[in-house]
Amino acid sequence: MVLQEADLLRQLVRIPSVNPVFATDGSGGEGLLTDFLQNLLDELGWRWLRQEVHPGRDNLIALCPGKNWGPGKNWGPGQSEEVTLWEVHQDTVGVAGMTIDPFAAEESEGRIWGRGACDIKGGMAAMLTALSRAQADPGRQQSTVLLAMTINEESGFTGADALCRFWTDDPERQVSSAEVHGPLSLTELQGLRPGQAVIAEPTQLDVVVAHKGASRWHCHTHGLASHSSQPELGRNAVYAMADVLRAIEAYQEEELGLWRAAPALWSSRRLCQYDSGRFGSEYRTRPCCDCDRPSAFAGRVSAEGL
Ligand SMILES: [Zn+2]
Repeated sequence: MVLQEADLLRQLVRIPSVNPVFATDGSGGEGLLTDFLQNLLDELGWRWLRQEVHPGRDNLIALCPGKNWGPGKNWGPGQSEEVTLWEVHQDTVGVAGMTIDPFAAEESEGRIWGRGACDIKGGMAAMLTALSRAQADPGRQQSTVLLAMTINEESGFTGADALCRFWTDDPERQVSSAEVHGPLSLTELQGLRPGQAVIAEPTQLDVVVAHKGASRWHCHTHGLASHSSQPELGRNAVYAMADVLRAIEAYQEEELGLWRAAPALWSSRRLCQYDSGRFGSEYRTRPCCDCDRPSAFAGRVSAEGL
């Protein structure tokens, strides 16, 4: 079976897989998508393994044999030919502030629109489609590929961390059989340690070899309450936070100035921003609307690339 990338992308976008961190109404989780992907792998005839990372939230790993795989050939579990890991996460950020139906996957201006259409379901559709084409024409696929579809990339990376445990040398971190199920055995997967990996993050087809990392802090400023008739006895915590905000704004401008002056020297634009959580956005997106009652005394500060 050969997949069609646009049709598959529409299907993927229409299955919500918002990270639970971003779904305060309890609707989050990757489970529906994992079930869809498992059925798809069965239709493609690829053996898979599900790894429970959190209750109801599973990594899904598929084996796509290369052309040298199989009895009588020079490749099999535990042998030295390289395995390539293709990795793509299943979760998306939330839908706060979106002005279109996040899960309609409507097409306009030659694009498919919806939550996750770019990050990450476009990459997921591309990887699945490419592998289905290679499998349909075995002469084209050079190496064996493990396709890992992990959970919780948008908040905590526990899916990727759990994936690495298949090939760890630390006996205390090794995956147990109680954590996994599926037609691909744990022993077989453990014998397929990848020598290289490709991650499906959207980079406009640039090769990106490093990640800038992220740090986040919750900042609090403290005031002193007083009656409005005696303002001289109090201290307004919002004004103290205003100083923090101006310092963050200045730092961001300084960083952007460095990047504008010499973009080739900076792998990416570094972001430092404040988000009170009340501006109609999440910490992965930048606040876009004014708050009419600036009553937040505490907020998150993100600094990527520090
Ligand atoms: Zn992503």
